[in-house]
Amino acid sequence: MAKAPRGERLIISLIGKRNAGKSSLINAIVGQEIAIVSDTAGTTTDPVAKHYELLPLGPVTFYDTAGIDDKGELGEKRIKATKKVLLKSDLALIVIDEQGMDERTEKIIYEIKELKIPYILVFNKTDIKEPDEKDINFADKIGANHICVSAKTGKNIDDLKNLIIKMAPTYLKEERVLVGDLIKGGDIIVLVVPIDLAAPKGRLILPQVQTIREILDNDATAVVVKERELEDALRNLKKKPALVITDSQAILKVSADVPEDIKLTTFSILFSRYKGELSEFVRGAKRIDELKDGDNILISEACSHHVQSDDIGRVKIPRWLLQYTGKELDIDVVSGSDFPEDLEKYSLIIHCGACMLNRMEMMRRLNESLRRNVPITNYGIAISKLQGVLERVLEPFFI
Ligand code: SF4
Repeated sequence: MAKAPRGERLIISLIGKRNAGKSSLINAIVGQEIAIVSDTAGTTTDPVAKHYELLPLGPVTFYDTAGIDDKGELGEKRIKATKKVLLKSDLALIVIDEQGMDERTEKIIYEIKELKIPYILVFNKTDIKEPDEKDINFADKIGANHICVSAKTGKNIDDLKNLIIKMAPTYLKEERVLVGDLIKGGDIIVLVVPIDLAAPKGRLILPQVQTIREILDNDATAVVVKERELEDALRNLKKKPALVITDSQAILKVSADVPEDIKLTTFSILFSRYKGELSEFVRGAKRIDELKDGDNILISEACSHHVQSDDIGRVKIPRWLLQYTGKELDIDVVSGSDFPEDLEKYSLIIHCGACMLNRMEMMRRLNESLRRNVPITNYGIAISKLQGVLERVLEPFFI
């Protein structure tokens, strides 16, 4: 089986006591239908990942975690590792054996509910004993989806798979629009694309190409200009454009050049709602006004690239942030596929535009930040906020 990029896999954690049958349950779900790729843990404290193609959902990773009742120093480390996996999970299966619910299991259920992680209570080992009525009543009382299975006999395993598919977060199933809902056939949309040192040679970048494509799909007209030519282009158009979309970095000049009666936004903002949740990123940006001396800020880029002298994440945003807030801030910049382990120490995360991430991965990062109580925003929204034009560029979405 080809390995899908990690970001494109649904993450499902199996949580429960030792010997609840978590590993057997994974084996029963994946069966012998396909080859299973198993990542043996790098250290004894890490949960073990098993990859599987759960159709029609697509690739998923099951995390077989340590028992929530694990004991001793090593046990505590294992439980910590389990909780870390939980924070980035899209779905949790809470596995309960024939001994039924106990205090620890109830506690973890409430924790998972609190973290707003979708979950299923899986009563396993029903070949030995069916669950007690009181446990089923408890599941009903808290509104939990639950199912009785036997990993050993295969009873209800197909139903469990169907329940997993049904419970998968909606962001996996949604068809998102980039700009299609903001425009109509016959509209003129002006796109402002700076061709500076940061622009790749001889081509446009993916977000620009995708936006043009969606404008064409909606029978509207795309006019593409550099920021220098914008004023001329607006003057020469016989019809008022329905929308101007600019690269965030040119927003200050562009907002001055575009008359107030023409709607304006940025590529980054379009992508904020396409890949993540616009409202959460806007909420995150509000934290900028509350920053204090000594606060830690995380600037997170989803991939590594050649660092330019006026790099947006390393130079421009930190400079604008310090100028805007007038505070002494500690700013860390990380790039790559994982968030730092110690997210809690940050007062704010400013994430890149995530053009290389799919929606699932961006939503996972967003959820992980919120579950750890760290507000998150992104480059485009932060830049517009720091340049004082956030309200204007959000207007097309809220009218
Ligand atoms: S994923 Fe982020 S860091 Fe990588 S190119 Fe896209 S916006 Fe830049």
